[in-house]
Amino acid sequence: MLWIESPPFPTRARRGKLEAMPETFVIVGASLAGTTAAETLRAEGFEGRVLLIGEEERLPYERPPLSKGLLLGDADPFLHPESWYADQRIELRLGERVEELDLAAKRVHGVAYDKLLLATGSRPRRLPGDALSLRNYDDALRLKEIVSGGGRLTIIGSGWIGLEVAAAARQRDVAVTVITPETVPLQNVLGTKVGAVFADLHRAHGVDFRFGSGVEAITGTAVRLTGGSTVDGDHVLVAIGAAPDIELAARAGLAADAGVLVDAHHRTSDPSVFAAGDIASVDHPLYGTRIRVEHWANALDSGPAAARSMLGRGTPWTRIPYFFTDQYDLGMEYAGTLEPGAELIVRGDLAKRECIVFWVLDGRVTAGMNINVWDVTDQIQALITAGFTGHRVDVARLADPAVPLPDLLPGD
Ligand SMILES: Cc1cc2nc3c(=O)[nH]c(=O)nc-3n(C[C@H](O)[C@H](O)[C@H](O)COP(=O)(O)OP(=O)(O)OC[C@H]3O[C@@H](n4cnc5c(N)ncnc54)[C@H](O)[C@@H]3O)c2cc1C
Repeated sequence: MLWIESPPFPTRARRGKLEAMPETFVIVGASLAGTTAAETLRAEGFEGRVLLIGEEERLPYERPPLSKGLLLGDADPFLHPESWYADQRIELRLGERVEELDLAAKRVHGVAYDKLLLATGSRPRRLPGDALSLRNYDDALRLKEIVSGGGRLTIIGSGWIGLEVAAAARQRDVAVTVITPETVPLQNVLGTKVGAVFADLHRAHGVDFRFGSGVEAITGTAVRLTGGSTVDGDHVLVAIGAAPDIELAARAGLAADAGVLVDAHHRTSDPSVFAAGDIASVDHPLYGTRIRVEHWANALDSGPAAARSMLGRGTPWTRIPYFFTDQYDLGMEYAGTLEPGAELIVRGDLAKRECIVFWVLDGRVTAGMNINVWDVTDQIQALITAGFTGHRVDVARLADPAVPLPDLLPGD
């Protein structure tokens, strides 16, 4: 357990009249959303006590390198060195899981708080059997050792993490089989046509897909499929997504569905409690509905946004969901949401994996994905945002790489 204590905390002092006690802000979940929130409190000049509590023993880190750079090299995912927390007067308590939250008494983990931020993130979904999963740094170190040793890796799941690990493992000459009930990878998030691009990419690098396959049992390192066949390997990784860790919030009685319900300022149903990152189901003013996003950029931006709201300086959350991935030589950014019935518009060459793909519904851009094309994500997001104000695009011009994207935005 690591505790980094701040310098002595100022006590109540009398100078003629009683000075206001400095406030205590507690953050539960010491990862990207929690740590960026703590950082923002200080950057915004908050002078009170900041306590950041996390279940993991490691210093706070970000997770994207765990399935990419760390498996292939020495990417350093840590957000700050240990000394930074003391310098910032952020009390870091690691290796502690907060089990209870008393909203009425405003106490958590034995501490009285003025404001509380929950940033408890997600946990990987598991299957029965002794398989690997990938959520934390130690999982990644174990997987790195495995993919460095050759052999055969069976991956259950063809979502982002499954595919990123497949790419890293193939680059280390590990034989990879991916088992998935989908007909192409990422079918649920990108649809069949764009999912096929990822299937081709991975096949070209030697990945063996078992599409349309459910898993009946994992026995040691063998996976029995629903049709009766078995995939043998040396290791099995289960990569079937994650579930938000809302246990603490729900037990305390905060309003929650799949995530913790927050308004556009990241306030929960209790006015002193805020939530950010993977767990926050935000009442999004642009979408006019709740949006919960399990992506890096969302944690990076919503932690600071919640911190500003804790200080009474928040602004409504209008961010468009954003995601990125790197697999082999494919780099991709995706913004927006996939809406049923949206038409696919390709600008560039999808087969060559150098293009922008747009999803358009009734003339409104709902999502855009740039594959090996760079510095366009701001423009894609601007097009999506413009759609909320009634802006419609000409799809023929959208598909034409000769028409600059800014020309498709509303004029002044
Ligand atoms: C391997 C991997 C690769 C990824 N790659 C990408 C990518 O390429 N692009 C992208 O956009 N996104 C990616 N993501 C998703 C992104 O990392 C997450 O969306 C992000 O980490 C969410 O941050 P968070 O702070 O909300 O939660 P988390 O990072 O999940 O952190 C929550 C923290 O809270 C702690 N905690 C939970 N409950 C308690 C409690 N009761 N008491 C104390 N501590 C508690 C947890 O132990 C954890 O440390 C990836 C995720 C993984 C796992």
